[in-house]
Amino acid sequence: MDDVLTVPQGEFTLHRDHHEAGPLRAWDAADEYVLAHLAEAGVSGDRWLVVNDGFGALATVLADHRPQSWSDSHVAIEAARANLVRNDLDPDLVRFVPSTDVPEGPIDVVIVKVPRTIAFLDDELRRLRPLLHEGSVVIGAGMTKSVHNSTIEVFERSIGPTPTTRARKKARLLLAQVNPRLEAPAPLEPITWKTHEGVAVTNLPTVFSSGSPDAGARLLLTHLPEVPPGARVIDLGCGNGIIGATLARRNPDIELRCIDESYQAVASARVTVGSEAPTAAFAVADSLVGIPDDDADLIVVNPPFHAGGARTHDVAGRMFADARRVLRPGGQLIVVGNRHLGHHKPLRNLFDSVTALSSDPSFVVLSAR
Ligand code: SAM
Repeated sequence: MDDVLTVPQGEFTLHRDHHEAGPLRAWDAADEYVLAHLAEAGVSGDRWLVVNDGFGALATVLADHRPQSWSDSHVAIEAARANLVRNDLDPDLVRFVPSTDVPEGPIDVVIVKVPRTIAFLDDELRRLRPLLHEGSVVIGAGMTKSVHNSTIEVFERSIGPTPTTRARKKARLLLAQVNPRLEAPAPLEPITWKTHEGVAVTNLPTVFSSGSPDAGARLLLTHLPEVPPGARVIDLGCGNGIIGATLARRNPDIELRCIDESYQAVASARVTVGSEAPTAAFAVADSLVGIPDDDADLIVVNPPFHAGGARTHDVAGRMFADARRVLRPGGQLIVVGNRHLGHHKPLRNLFDSVTALSSDPSFVVLSAR
């Protein structure tokens, strides 16, 4: 496997997974481009920030600057820590700041990897703006397929004029210049909407399915089982908490836990689920890591189907295997997924009985015991 990143700053061994090496690279051409640019342009400063670092490539290469790393992803932060250690660097060189907090300002140099959703980028830049000064260097980096006119507009609205560079290996940089006279827009407010059952769903900007349930979640909501009082239930990959909140509304006496690897998802779920189930517990975690064996009666999951191009089958597969471990004997896992993802196959390898509760042309709801 090609796991050595060679850049002007040196050679670094990087893995995506914080446990072990895999076939996919832990960096992209946008990381390479921005690191080359920093060296070529002689960018300097005392206080550095990297935003949305995929698997810690930027934090690892730039560790000597003792950067802050601002991320919504617990999995990305764990991967970055592991990559620092892998390169004999002290993980405490980097201060990891979850997306629900704000980095410490002022910032002299900031590198923003362009995220998948424009609302998330917009929110980040709005919150970043007060941390910048006239001389701050602000560089956006993304693959050309994710750098659109709207991306440039969002930089210009919060930072200032933003010319882009030529594409290099299908990556592009956005060289934003801080306009000190710009009246930057206020941070985005969470969006709240109601399901037809009256559950108020709150969404912070990065969270999956912002203004209405996605088709999979909608189908799943019509096939949730009745749950006996006292049952221990986990909403895995809870996102905004719509599934857990609906379960709690229909079955008020369950013991509910909501888990997601996204800080903003868990913050959103705290609001959504908190009003339906005040005793529910919440955790930012990678799948069911940290949950004991035989600890749940029901696990419900609408697994991720894209993760920045990463291997989402692996995430779903790991969630199923973790569910098998965490469910008590006779416990039930309910999964909704796009039909073409073929979730029934890994489930049949893990569980005694797998049945389809419902299917439409696009989605299928599976129950595994
Ligand atoms: N349950 C919500 C719904 O149905 O609307 C969200 C479902 S969304 C398809 C998948 C969720 O899984 C996202 O919120 C994502 O952040 C979360 N996720 C992705 N990878 C994860 C992981 N390794 N551990 C926990 N959650 C993860």
